[in-house]
Amino acid sequence: MWSTIKQFYNSQEWQKCRLNLIAERSPKGIIHCEYCGKIIVSSGDAEIDHIKELTLDNVNDYNISLNPNNLKISCKACHNKKHKRFGNSKEHNVYIVYGPPLAGKKTYVKENMERGDIVVDMDRLYNAISFFDAYDKPEALKYNVFAVRKTLIDNIKTRYGKWNNAWIIGGYADTHDRTRLANELGAELVLIDTPKDICIKRLDTCLDLRHYQKSEYKIFIDEWFEKYSPPI
Ligand SMILES: [Zn+2]
Repeated sequence: MWSTIKQFYNSQEWQKCRLNLIAERSPKGIIHCEYCGKIIVSSGDAEIDHIKELTLDNVNDYNISLNPNNLKISCKACHNKKHKRFGNSKEHNVYIVYGPPLAGKKTYVKENMERGDIVVDMDRLYNAISFFDAYDKPEALKYNVFAVRKTLIDNIKTRYGKWNNAWIIGGYADTHDRTRLANELGAELVLIDTPKDICIKRLDTCLDLRHYQKSEYKIFIDEWFEKYSPPI
């Protein structure tokens, strides 16, 4: 049983299925894109598309996830076009909005989003399931908040649902983690580049519950700037 799409793509079953498919359909080892016919130079560049798209509901159905009749070898360009990534369509743009605490990430998203967009924000997820006010985050709910967040990110990855654009808000100080997530989601990275002294000044004057957790948030800010590594 796979509980996420990512788990499926990391599985041995999928890796084996993928390599078999490429071997079977590539006489003399020459791999072709089954959409546009272009030669794909290295097998690592061959994308395998599911004709009936993979979702959390059908990923454990072998007739869909591992069925060769549901699979097509694709070059990167055709793959991105099919999944409407990287400006091939106005729909379904995905943004990862990241930066230090109190940088103004939520404000940025509010100013740039539209009705019908999906927004994933940890603080708001705590509100949703704790029924407490913003920034009052009961530790006891941590794992459930993570689980909800993971489900939403999987929804975004598989383009499940009818949302228009997606916004994922987080610290994402680590370049490696950030880049990997962006690649997995076909997302654009947006850094909210607020200097540390401004973040701290905002913390000092903020009126929400963070006001009562100043020492914790000061540490969060310090940690972000220590950990942050700029894009390579
Ligand atoms: Zn192609």
